[in-house]
Amino acid sequence: MNIPFLKTDALPFCKGCGHDLIAKNTTKALEKLGFNPLDVIMVTDIGCHGIIDKCLNTHTIHGLHGRSSALGAGVTFGTEEPGKKVIVFIGDGGSTIGLQHLMEASRLNLNMTVVVHDNFLYGMTGGQTSGLTPHGFNTTTSREGNPFSGYDICALAHTAGASYVSRVMGIGDISDKLAVAFSTRGFSLVEVLEICPSYGMKLNPRRKLSEIAQSAGKEMGEWLNNRKPFIAHQGRKTDNLLEKVNPIAPSFKSYLKKTTSMILSGSAGEGVQLAASILAKAAMRSGLSITQKGSYPVTVGVGFSTAELNLSPEEVHFHGIAVPDMAVITSSDGLAHNKQRIAKMQGGYLFIDQSLEVPPTGAEVIRHDFRGMGARNASIFSVFFMALKTGIISTECLFLTIEAEGMGEKLPVAKIKEALVK
Ligand code: SF4
Repeated sequence: MNIPFLKTDALPFCKGCGHDLIAKNTTKALEKLGFNPLDVIMVTDIGCHGIIDKCLNTHTIHGLHGRSSALGAGVTFGTEEPGKKVIVFIGDGGSTIGLQHLMEASRLNLNMTVVVHDNFLYGMTGGQTSGLTPHGFNTTTSREGNPFSGYDICALAHTAGASYVSRVMGIGDISDKLAVAFSTRGFSLVEVLEICPSYGMKLNPRRKLSEIAQSAGKEMGEWLNNRKPFIAHQGRKTDNLLEKVNPIAPSFKSYLKKTTSMILSGSAGEGVQLAASILAKAAMRSGLSITQKGSYPVTVGVGFSTAELNLSPEEVHFHGIAVPDMAVITSSDGLAHNKQRIAKMQGGYLFIDQSLEVPPTGAEVIRHDFRGMGARNASIFSVFFMALKTGIISTECLFLTIEAEGMGEKLPVAKIKEALVK
């Protein structure tokens, strides 16, 4: 069965928008070249053009503003096989926000196509001047006309080394011109000129696209470099990172009946993330599913260190926690970072070092001298203490996990055992 590229002909753009023409001519070109929708990976950027995603039967990825060429480059590295096509849609705004990404993809001559939807302004955000806005063109941020000239994106991509670059008017049937780019081996870029009816036409009444292009010196044409494309794999099979991970076989039982979320928090350098990963691996050893997420300031050596864990007898398909079922706090940094979430707890447990002031909370509070084990060991000790009090994981399983991870020398196993029986 032939699957159409577009799910609908009624595309979600303003009436008369050139994005409609580009989307339809792109699909027409791909059909002419005999592509199947699932052989095509469309990477879109922030901007009106990007709302095409939902209308496509191809693979789609939506990038951050200006980053879709870098995203497309990443996809190209991982999809370097015959019969697949990576196409990036980007606006004039996005292409100049992410200019370096475009230049790198051109310089490496990656096997992908970028279609620049150049309507001379930022359409989605309100008609502001972009890096491709021609001199004298009116935008909402340059009402008297842009005092600067725009970049020549085609010249930049060509001189950076792209195999194929072209500039076309977004009028009529441009599918053959797009097809040339799509069938190029190596990097290709097509700049399609258009005017946004909602901002560009209103702010520049009576100006025609051809006149704007001419006065901006944007000549239509093709520019070629006779270069081989960069082949990422060169016959090498992609490494599967998971192959290097040792599976943990369940050998303990857990009595946990429902998903339980937990915050473990203390100070940087006090082993919070290590304690969380010991707990996570012990949970796996007990047959539970788990997610672990670390959060700390960019200055990783100071301030709080928080680990968020979800433990469950079922598969867990999310990470992060709004309000935890349990919080284990071992320092004032950790308390300050989680005070608001602790205040929202309506039940569950708050394990907190006895040196800290107990914050308002609906959780049952259990105070203990975690820091008495030494600041660097407070977090791992708090995990054992919490496990002993709640029965969520057996302490035996935690000790075994420490041994299995080769941490027996580093962590104060004997001191923890002694403290637990007191
Ligand atoms: S605002 Fe402009 S660019 Fe965006 S869909 Fe409407 S006409 Fe097209």
